[in-house]
Amino acid sequence: MERVRPHLNRRRVLQGAALAAVPYVLLPERPAGAHVPGPDQPSAEWRPAGRSAYTAVAPGTVRPIDRVIIHMTQTAYRKTLFLFEAGRKKVSAHYVVRSSDGHISQCVRESDIAWHAGNWEENERSIGIEHEGWVDEPSYYTDVMYEASAKLTAAICARRGIPMDRAHIIGHHEVPGSDHTDPGPHWDWARYIRLVNAA
Ligand SMILES: [Zn+2]
Repeated sequence: MERVRPHLNRRRVLQGAALAAVPYVLLPERPAGAHVPGPDQPSAEWRPAGRSAYTAVAPGTVRPIDRVIIHMTQTAYRKTLFLFEAGRKKVSAHYVVRSSDGHISQCVRESDIAWHAGNWEENERSIGIEHEGWVDEPSYYTDVMYEASAKLTAAICARRGIPMDRAHIIGHHEVPGSDHTDPGPHWDWARYIRLVNAA
């Protein structure tokens, strides 16, 4: 933790100073509906989380990743992106998957540490994927969301050398010390692991 943070704070200050010096007219404006590819998952839309919502890892530092952690948002897709972008709640995930059509946003680079597990060691070693929905609303667990998420997890596992099994693809409720219940009893693990391996 300590080896990362001093660098980050300095970087954040530098970024802030640099931004402050740029006239607003020069800031790029993204055309409505444009797909900006995610830095790690090109099929995802890049919707970066605010700088106060994750830990940036120093360039050149390799973060060993051996887990994918599955979440349900407990709020709407758009609100999730808004919360990550605003950064005030100091939460984020690498990816968010939309229930209605399986659309994926990438919010944090895989090399950086998203704050999703509620546990520093787990955040440090994992990629977090949020799924739009509520644990007590089975209608949000759509086929298209499972399929899109499974393809994403398969791609992450391939990139990072993570075994595609239940020991390495876990639920938030399985994080040591977690009091969260997501992805909840309606999440079909057997189906998900099968889809990941078939992707
Ligand atoms: Zn969660």
